[in-house]
Amino acid sequence: MMETTTLAGLNFELSEEQIAVRDAARDFAQNVLKPGVIDRDREQRFPKDEIKQLGELGFLGMMVSPEYGGGGMDTISYVLAMEEISKIDASASVVMSVNNSLVCWGLEEFANEEQKQKYLVPLAKGEVIGAFCLSEPEAGSDATSQRTTAIDMGDHYLLNGTKNWITNGGTASTYLVMAQTDAAKKHKGINCLIVEKGMPGFVVGAKEDKLGIRGSDTHTLMFQDVKVPKENRIGEDGFGFTFAMKTLSGGRIGIASQALGIASGAYELALAYSKERKAFGKAISEHQAIAFKLADMVRRSKRLVCFA
Ligand SMILES: Cc1cc2nc3c(=O)[nH]c(=O)nc-3n(C[C@H](O)[C@H](O)[C@H](O)COP(=O)(O)OP(=O)(O)OC[C@H]3O[C@@H](n4cnc5c(N)ncnc54)[C@H](O)[C@@H]3O)c2cc1C
Repeated sequence: MMETTTLAGLNFELSEEQIAVRDAARDFAQNVLKPGVIDRDREQRFPKDEIKQLGELGFLGMMVSPEYGGGGMDTISYVLAMEEISKIDASASVVMSVNNSLVCWGLEEFANEEQKQKYLVPLAKGEVIGAFCLSEPEAGSDATSQRTTAIDMGDHYLLNGTKNWITNGGTASTYLVMAQTDAAKKHKGINCLIVEKGMPGFVVGAKEDKLGIRGSDTHTLMFQDVKVPKENRIGEDGFGFTFAMKTLSGGRIGIASQALGIASGAYELALAYSKERKAFGKAISEHQAIAFKLADMVRRSKRLVCFA
């Protein structure tokens, strides 16, 4: 059975496979994520068991080719799954988004065969999770101002510096770390190194106490004379900034799907409440102002769909 949606004159048809992926994600969100979501958020508890199950279902390496342990799915399937998970649990979906878009995609696209076998396969299967480490205290939007250094020591790089606000910072096993090797070359002197948890000198620092998505762990990471083997560099010398920017471009699709899921989840809750809550003798959804607001929310979320 095909589903057809017409919007702004465009026809979006979902394939049977895309519908099956969406429905599987919806069932998982309702049955597995929903029961504990409020407690996990309040207690800042990482959804460890739930993420393990998401991995077993193939949601952590959705677009990676089966050759490397992934689901071989298309971007629309990824967007639909992200939206469904985000409607219920935005913490779980940010873990999923980073692993799929910022770690697996970048590795499949730019890593060499040995790196893919060693790092991508377990990440795509969801056996471990990954983190993408670009931001620093003085390098957020201005990501070229990297102060973390990766000095070329011949057979290895010596990594020193601090990364901030890293999603999956405490729970990941594999970290893609951007660092400056040759400051004179500015952004063309930046490399991306694959760093493993447990490498001597790599310390996971404080966890952020956030306003939202509190089940997702966001950490500061410190690198003190970490010896990273040369074979852990992704691409040619100086490719790190291009790697980061290209990977972030794909990442925006995951984040847009997340925003869409959060908005439609909020809408569904508000709609249900407006039918249940009574004031002045009838459900508040029957009062003109509320009915107008809900219709406006539908219009806005449709615009979000176009934007995503
Ligand atoms: C929950 C969370 C998870 C995160 N996860 C990761 C992660 O996994 N990996 C990672 O590397 N980073 C991560 N980050 C960091 C994130 O990428 C940065 O917060 C982001 O790049 C913005 O940097 P900043 O916070 O330093 O803000 P700033 O760059 O200081 O920006 C502050 C404000 O100024 C505006 N601004 C900046 N430059 C301009 C300009 N040229 N013109 C107009 N306006 C401008 C910005 O839009 C913003 O509103 C995460 C952040 C959060 C909050």
